[in-house]
Amino acid sequence: MTTQTQPPMSDLDAFRAHLDAIIDSETTRRMIDEAERTSVFPREFVRLLGREGVYAAKWGDRAQPSLEHTLALAERLGRLGSGGIATAATLHDSAIAMLRRFGRSDAVREIADRAIAGDIMLCVSATEAGAGSDMLGLSSTAVREGDGYRLRGHKKMASPSPYSDYILLAVRGVDHSHAGRDDLALFLVPMSQVRVGKVFDTVGAKSVCTAPVHFDTWVPAEMMIARPGTCLAVLSWGLAHERFAIAAQVLGGSDFAIGLTVARMKKRESFGVKLFEHQALRLRIADLKARVDLMRWGLRAMITDPAGLNVRSSAAAKVSAVRLACEVMSECMHIFGTVGAIENESPLGRWWRDAKMARIGGGTDEVLWEIVAAGLEPDFESYDRLVREWQPEDDG
Ligand SMILES: Cc1cc2nc3c(=O)[nH]c(=O)nc-3n(C[C@H](O)[C@H](O)[C@H](O)COP(=O)(O)OP(=O)(O)OC[C@H]3O[C@@H](n4cnc5c(N)ncnc54)[C@H](O)[C@@H]3O)c2cc1C
Repeated sequence: MTTQTQPPMSDLDAFRAHLDAIIDSETTRRMIDEAERTSVFPREFVRLLGREGVYAAKWGDRAQPSLEHTLALAERLGRLGSGGIATAATLHDSAIAMLRRFGRSDAVREIADRAIAGDIMLCVSATEAGAGSDMLGLSSTAVREGDGYRLRGHKKMASPSPYSDYILLAVRGVDHSHAGRDDLALFLVPMSQVRVGKVFDTVGAKSVCTAPVHFDTWVPAEMMIARPGTCLAVLSWGLAHERFAIAAQVLGGSDFAIGLTVARMKKRESFGVKLFEHQALRLRIADLKARVDLMRWGLRAMITDPAGLNVRSSAAAKVSAVRLACEVMSECMHIFGTVGAIENESPLGRWWRDAKMARIGGGTDEVLWEIVAAGLEPDFESYDRLVREWQPEDDG
């Protein structure tokens, strides 16, 4: 895994090969197995990625990441076999995306650099008990106090807050001229200044260690990343990054699960032949593989857009990829039969639950479809040419 004799990781092939070596290493495998066994997020994993120069290669000195590196990293994180750990590494990276592009103060820039080096772990939270999909319903507040702000409130879901050093908090800037529903601001806060509650026993992605946080604390103004009224724009950029990466991640994981399932089908016999000889199974897995491959090609095409990532295509990519991944994991688990159904005989059941969590975290299906719907363009010209509507006055 050493970087000593390798070509610079700005070279994509070198980056991919280096990532493969990290993901497939014995150290990583042991770390992941242990984390999945104990449901404890392995902080060391992000330190390892940082130390090995993975985040540095995708960020360089730029405010925006190399999308090729983002795609390569996310696909390989999907192959870790742990939706929770892959998601935590992606959330950390999406927080870096917001700090790199919108962080103005030296203090924030330094924190972003240390996060890229893996010395600092970041998490992000907007969700509250009373507001999840509808972010404009948040109730936590930021009130000007001296040279900074007093932040008060709570967040229901913050992953992996027990293992993070800083958290990005979306709150209402109540005493600002933007007061109203669109007055959200974003602050970077040391975890030492918030109280982390008990980790939730989530149905899947347990190793992402999602926990609530409570806060009544003061931060200097330099820790404000988005002033009131601008938070949604900053979060949208972070979410575009996160959603694109989650799409690539779950497709990488789906491809991995399909490979494993094909191996199972070529080893296991039923009715005197290999499972792979049963057309019903073979064609189902072929259909899934075809759709996964096409969607992976779609992501490659997305990053060739000179305008970079945008909110709408990232939302579309995430909702489509995650729903496909749920189908893939469900079918793969099914083809594994009882081995798929027993926790300690294969990881398929866990992967199925991890995929389901991804339909909620980072924006639910419906919220993402609404973003896509907002950009739908009617083709009135063709409609008028091709469709004749019956009108009572046409009746002669
Ligand atoms: C494992 C996990 C980790 C998470 N980690 C984080 C984190 O680190 N940081 C963070 O901020 N959040 C995190 N979340 C929270 C996640 O982002 C929210 O759960 C999600 O945004 C949905 O919010 P909600 O739970 O309040 O659901 P609600 O908003 O109450 O929605 C409930 C259901 O109604 C649907 N719905 C809501 N509004 C509409 C509408 N207008 N039209 C149609 N359907 C609608 C939703 O799609 C959903 O199916 C995490 C969630 C999970 C499961």
